[in-house]
Amino acid sequence: MIPAGLLVSIEQQLELFTGYKSNISSTQSQGGGSINHAVRLEYAGTDFFLKWNSSYKFPGMFEAEILGLNLLRKTGSIQIPKVIGQGDDTRHCYLLMEYIPQGHPDTRFWKRFGYQLASLHQNTAAFFGLDHDNYIGSLPQQNNESSNWHEFFIQFRIQPQLSMAVDKAYLHKNDIQSFHKLFTKLPHLIPAEAPCLLHGDLWSGNFLCSYKALPVLIDPAVYYGHREMDIAMTRLFGGFHPDFYYAYHEAFPLENDWEKRIDLCNLYPLLVHVNLFGGGYVQQLRSVLQAFVG
Ligand code: ADP
Repeated sequence: MIPAGLLVSIEQQLELFTGYKSNISSTQSQGGGSINHAVRLEYAGTDFFLKWNSSYKFPGMFEAEILGLNLLRKTGSIQIPKVIGQGDDTRHCYLLMEYIPQGHPDTRFWKRFGYQLASLHQNTAAFFGLDHDNYIGSLPQQNNESSNWHEFFIQFRIQPQLSMAVDKAYLHKNDIQSFHKLFTKLPHLIPAEAPCLLHGDLWSGNFLCSYKALPVLIDPAVYYGHREMDIAMTRLFGGFHPDFYYAYHEAFPLENDWEKRIDLCNLYPLLVHVNLFGGGYVQQLRSVLQAFVG
């Protein structure tokens, strides 16, 4: 199941990491991911998580994911799986990491998660953006550095996805005009905030609950941005308990009316979903736009 050309390299990494010369003794396919093949594998009595894809499909995806995971882990705010290694052959590339055995949320799980995300968001930078590009799901995400959130949001979050949606004929000239109307209003709609380190793709498929009932973040699309982007993303498909928001707000209060800005922030992930899936997301996007520009 694991591509044969990757096996030697993966086992070398595992030998280096564990200090034992052994072989992968079992693998179990992991569902839930939408982009890569994923397995839990056992090596020298320990479980590891491996994902892989064709080398040419998403160039630099795993390198960017490692940088993102490491950036998040360095803050010490929230648990992030340890990266063990990456590699490729001529046809495939892989990412090998610590396997997180999963448990069930206890009564404090959501509060803990809220506090820990608030702590992550207190990591700031001089600029919005990041020093390297990465991916949002399977689509490229540009991260130039910018001193102004509204400009960054327009130029590096909305515009590239909007152009793609128009190229794919999901959106039309009228939609572009609506977005341009919205752009002029943005500085009045979104209050200023310092750049915060964001997970960047915080929906319920991108965190795990460890067996100790600790939140663990996976699959990030990190950048320094407006923290309401992460909060809003948790609401796009739901699945986050009210305690999460109470705890976050207690630790790092959000500006007044943050809930009224959720749809505005989610224009970015909605555009991403338009580009990935089209269909009903186009209508959802237009309804949100209309609500802000009339
Ligand atoms: P993709 O890059 O294809 O979206 P994910 O990183 O989301 O893949 O991983 C697929 C699934 O595997 C996740 O939904 C999650 O359930 C599980 N998973 C991801 N990382 C780990 C890990 N480090 N330990 C255990 N399970 C994991």
